[in-house]
Amino acid sequence: MLWPHARIRHARNVEILERVAAARRETPESEAWLGLLEAAFGESEDGAPWAAGVPRPAADRPVKAPVLSHTEITLDGRAARDWVRRLLKLTPTVNPRRIDGLALLEAAVCHDDARLDALAAAGGEGVEPHALRVLGQMAALPLLQACGRELASELPATWWEGYCPLCGAWPVVAEYTGLERKRQLRCGRCGTGWAIPLLRCVFCDETEHDHLGYLTPEAGEQTRKIEICHTCKGYVKAVTTVRPLAPWAVLLDDLTTVPLDVAALERGYRRPDRPGYPIEARIAERPPMRGWWRLVEVGGGWWRSLRQDEA
Ligand SMILES: [Zn+2]
Ligand SMILES: [Zn+2]
Repeated sequence: MLWPHARIRHARNVEILERVAAARRETPESEAWLGLLEAAFGESEDGAPWAAGVPRPAADRPVKAPVLSHTEITLDGRAARDWVRRLLKLTPTVNPRRIDGLALLEAAVCHDDARLDALAAAGGEGVEPHALRVLGQMAALPLLQACGRELASELPATWWEGYCPLCGAWPVVAEYTGLERKRQLRCGRCGTGWAIPLLRCVFCDETEHDHLGYLTPEAGEQTRKIEICHTCKGYVKAVTTVRPLAPWAVLLDDLTTVPLDVAALERGYRRPDRPGYPIEARIAERPPMRGWWRLVEVGGGWWRSLRQDEA
């Protein structure tokens, strides 16, 4: 496929390219978000190129607060806005001129749908609210995935909550890995995985056998099921894997198993609208560089050095 905008980075990871191509063949109707997702994967490969350093976790955060809770995330404002604009150009139902890229990133990182809807409303007629929610999450993906990698060492050794210890989102999948079928919850935003006892509802902490169960597909698929809770009516998709899914693959897996969500919804189960823990992170803009020096990336990740601009 030709990119509608030449400056979108291409993902180089062959496995990603193959999985996205397969998803395109299987669900051609998902082209709109697959295009966004592919762009976000491409942008993620070298870290979030517009992030100016790793956010420092708040020293006094409560025990149950995720690592990104109340952090200040500094971005190269111009580069970050440019990234959001490139993504907006892939979305015909959102007029790019009406959206402030940094406000969008902040609302999306905080998983604050009400704020995203307010941004859509402020954008006027040219902005479709649902499209903006999806776009916001895709725009924040490179940043959240970089945080997932760079802040992994800050994760608490044990974590008993159902929500992501890094970004506060509910898990999109429970993964049963290897011969011992160890249960890991996985975050679709930052890719973080965390272990939680087998029989316990992610959303309401229910542990009674009688109140927990699962739905299985009628035929075929042996590796899939849906864990359900009769107490809160919540559900989470589950998958059996040989090895843990790569962080990028968690989100792709979630987006390509929509029939399982439909099956759960049809039986009266649902996922909470709000994130597990609102992290209330802030996005700050790094002051613009003076003169003809600019920040360039060296290697992968977030480390950069100053170099004289060759242009
Ligand atoms: Zn997360
Ligand atoms: Zn429950």
